[in-house]
Amino acid sequence: MIFGQALAHYDPLTSKSEPWSTAQAEEYYGLKRWGGGHFSVDEEGCVCAHPAGDHRRIRLMDVIEEAAEAGLHPPLTIRIQDLLRHRVELLAGAFTQAIKDEKYSGTYRGVFPIKVNQLREVVEEIIDAGKPFNFGLEAGSKPELLIALALSEQSGKLLICNGYKDEAYIRLALLGTRLGREVILVIEQPSEADSIIRLSQEMGITPNVGIRLKLHSHGEGKWRNSSGDEAKFGLSIREVMDTVKKLNKAGLSESLKLVHFHIGSQVTDILAIKRAVTEGARYYCELRKLGHPVRYLDVGGGLGIDYDGSRSNFESSMNYSLPEYARDVVYNIKKVCDDAGEDEPDILSESGRALVAPHSVLVLEVVDRIAKIPEGKVPRPGKKRNTVIKDMLHTLEEGANYSQLERFHDAQQKREEAASLFSLGYMDLETTAKAENLYWRICDDIRNNLRRDGYIPEELEDLDTLLAEQYVCNFSVFQSLLDHWALGQLFPVAPLHRLREEPGTEATLVDITCDSDGKIAKFTDLEDVRPTLRLHDFTPGQPYYLGVFLVGAYQDIMGDLHNLFGRVNEVHVFLEDDEEDGFYIEETIDGFRTNEILDLIQYKESDLIRRMKAQIDAAIKNDEVKPREGVRLLNLYTDQLKEKTYLDTRDTKRPKRKRS
Ligand SMILES: *Cc1c(COP(=O)(O)O)cnc(C)c1O
Repeated sequence: MIFGQALAHYDPLTSKSEPWSTAQAEEYYGLKRWGGGHFSVDEEGCVCAHPAGDHRRIRLMDVIEEAAEAGLHPPLTIRIQDLLRHRVELLAGAFTQAIKDEKYSGTYRGVFPIKVNQLREVVEEIIDAGKPFNFGLEAGSKPELLIALALSEQSGKLLICNGYKDEAYIRLALLGTRLGREVILVIEQPSEADSIIRLSQEMGITPNVGIRLKLHSHGEGKWRNSSGDEAKFGLSIREVMDTVKKLNKAGLSESLKLVHFHIGSQVTDILAIKRAVTEGARYYCELRKLGHPVRYLDVGGGLGIDYDGSRSNFESSMNYSLPEYARDVVYNIKKVCDDAGEDEPDILSESGRALVAPHSVLVLEVVDRIAKIPEGKVPRPGKKRNTVIKDMLHTLEEGANYSQLERFHDAQQKREEAASLFSLGYMDLETTAKAENLYWRICDDIRNNLRRDGYIPEELEDLDTLLAEQYVCNFSVFQSLLDHWALGQLFPVAPLHRLREEPGTEATLVDITCDSDGKIAKFTDLEDVRPTLRLHDFTPGQPYYLGVFLVGAYQDIMGDLHNLFGRVNEVHVFLEDDEEDGFYIEETIDGFRTNEILDLIQYKESDLIRRMKAQIDAAIKNDEVKPREGVRLLNLYTDQLKEKTYLDTRDTKRPKRKRS
């Protein structure tokens, strides 16, 4: 099937007749499908971002170049700050429109769940953009609450407190209430009600509380267990009743202000959202009937991102649009409330992924290629006239007389034969290497013939993947694309330049960790997943940059230090309206340096240097190293401790293009 798809738009033997265009590049890499109007390819074949969704654009290669001038080389995160702003406006706008269309009497407010991207510049940008819409913040842990409290002066004062809560967490939240913020402590575990009652009495502060529901309705997608019986959060219907009684008994029945649910992130199917919203609205009405002045219905997160642009309920996609989501939330709440004769609540949503995923692009530099198909001349049998080599040459050169499948089987047999002969000592290194060389040439020839014939036997379907090149990129999957490794989350990948050239190499991407899992071998496609991506020919020494898109939610912040590769360099770019295609870099963040990473795992820089110095001194004393050389060696060591953790490619390459 994979072959079939490749065939549909790509045939190396005939593609010459149809010149490649930047429009084809846009189509192949899917920029228009998953980009939501935020990404395009310009006349020079470079990817541009459109932060505000209009004609204004920032060419990403220009940003890379300017960052390089400031000493920040890829791996590099480019944060497009205006894109964050634009997403906030789109979300609020969709709800405003839906409220108007449905003649809904409540309002909409977004609260940004900090855990989705805790970086200060991201949170502040969202707060600022959200001001006209009374956006608030959501915290899911004590450290996040500490951030939210400090920033809630600027935010619309609404602060939703989720997650596990100890005494200190609750005290901090009450402190916020005392300072006039609208802090709502969401009860997620039955025991939290007791602590909230006790501590609020002790501190003499009346709390605002919410209740998180463990809904019967499931989400869809990877996080479907965030609700239902398996969920680790929320109160079952029985626990809701118990909690309400406790609050009443403590004289806090007026404190119940919010009903909350969260059915999981990246909900792929709109039906799941409709069901959950309806069920949540029923709770709201019932609690109102019991006399609690519930004002907010918080529909949690879950609003998806269409990573592959297929608009389907596949796990990397979503089968609905943002306006449809807003309409369905508003409509279903209204319907339930109308039926029950209750006032309509103000609607809150905790959309995180949908706000921040698009704003950040991870820039990778290709530093090497690992090819399977040998270059150079076809090996000859040589003086020894080895029969295995002779047979393989026959399979390669007299292919016309045999079916492709038969040739493949013959090649496999001969390759195995060569391996056993080598193990038993009957074949030397040079001859075995020739056999290996011929094997890959035969596979390549078979693949090319199959492409021409258009029919692919099942056994040979994976040949394209088998023969794909590996492009080595200077980054760590575990630091920068954790969700890809841990959850198989797909992200769109595209070259950031050279898009006027037709890409001719099927490739996968590998990182520089010593972990075979450190790779990207699954790419977004309109249907299903593709195992390889077509990229341009890579020539060592010539810069070749790839972008991984829509990475602004979660992994952007969750990375780990596998192989001690640290956080990557970062630049924050803004649109500059005075200039055609203008932008400026407001902030840069230096990636981790080696000594910083080592310090985290208890290696003190000074101690490491002392130990190295002792060894070098000893070598000098034993006359194994000259003093002058000893100084040089120690300098090499100490200097490297202060460098970044990734490969340093500064000596070999520089972006060629100058900014226009
Ligand atoms: C993670 C989380 C969110 C954010 O979900 P998204 O799908 O990223 O919008 C919202 N609310 C709660 C309670 C969460 O745990």
